[in-house]
Amino acid sequence: MPESKDKLIAITGAGGFIGGHLVAEFRRRGHKYIRAVDIKKLEHWYERFDDVENLSLDLNDRENCEVAARGAQSVYNLAANMGGMGFIENNKALCMLSVLINTHMLQAALKHHVPRYFYSSSACVYNGDKQKTFEAPSLKEEDAYPAMPEDGYGWEKLFSERMCRHFREDFGLRTRVARFHNVYGPWGTWYGGREKAPAAICRKVIEAKLKGKHEIEIWGTGDQTRSFMYIDDCLKGIDRIMESDILEPLNLGSSEAVTINRLVDLAEEIAGIKLKRNYDLSAPKGVNGRNSDNTKIQQLLHWEPNTPLRIGLEKTYRWIYDQYQARQRGEAGVIREVLAS
Ligand code: NAD
Repeated sequence: MPESKDKLIAITGAGGFIGGHLVAEFRRRGHKYIRAVDIKKLEHWYERFDDVENLSLDLNDRENCEVAARGAQSVYNLAANMGGMGFIENNKALCMLSVLINTHMLQAALKHHVPRYFYSSSACVYNGDKQKTFEAPSLKEEDAYPAMPEDGYGWEKLFSERMCRHFREDFGLRTRVARFHNVYGPWGTWYGGREKAPAAICRKVIEAKLKGKHEIEIWGTGDQTRSFMYIDDCLKGIDRIMESDILEPLNLGSSEAVTINRLVDLAEEIAGIKLKRNYDLSAPKGVNGRNSDNTKIQQLLHWEPNTPLRIGLEKTYRWIYDQYQARQRGEAGVIREVLAS
């Protein structure tokens, strides 16, 4: 990190998957002052460190955003109402309400003279018409326009991206924006309805293996294509984009596209079983195909997310396996807490 390790970093959404990893990463790198903020009660955070300033605050509220931003040298805004297809298709208003978080965080950052602001956007901003084929169309940054994003969640992300741009152009706030494509890994949501495909499939395969019922339910035909980025690559990308002079939103995703059926193949291979596949054609399935075009990130950063899916999925599978078993033993409260030694 080029920036001083003595300056305060504020991370919102820190009780969730990526935010929790980001706090852990800054701690690892020796940052002394980290403010972690999330609406969830502290006991429900995925990762929590007792040497960090942990605040349970609702960032829909402008005053709370001021508490979060005050004195910070960098803000990483990862707080949002978020989930897999099952969640975002059925909670469009809730997803759009995340606009309050970004609006108030931008205003608070400006008011408190925060020099640097990071916003986590999404591949859901891309125009739906460009994602109709199953052949994993590679989405370039300019494919977000003309605008026809994912209803609800995607519209909010696209609007908030533009707000970051205009706060930069009009008010001089140094904003950076990454469009994440499906992030997965340990500490990601893996049950409860907000989990995304890699975690959901790992959990279903584990359940089938442990219960001896060798069947799996797959949403849609399984022909939908996606790419999945391992969490370590996401953290590297956030860092590189935040430190860069890149003003426009940039894809941050893997370009290794696979079908959902292939994702199931990989999980089965890791588990060492074969399952009968039952396809639920009425379940939410999202766009038919989507991949990250990494031409621009390669040009600008000479790097792209490169953890092979097989490797990242195995680590994720093993982690979910342990969580699953601990939960069966009634240890859910303990396993989500990581206290600094
Ligand atoms: P997550 O759900 O694990 O984390 C988001 C956190 O935001 C949650 O802990 C939640 O409690 C918190 N939050 C929600 N409303 C809040 C509020 N009013 N005040 C304070 N905190 C609030 O999700 P994640 O996967 O860690 O995603 C982090 C960011 O990255 C989000 O902005 C998400 O939209 C974006 N993103 C994630 C992915 C992905 O695949 N995980 C893909 C694209 C974009």
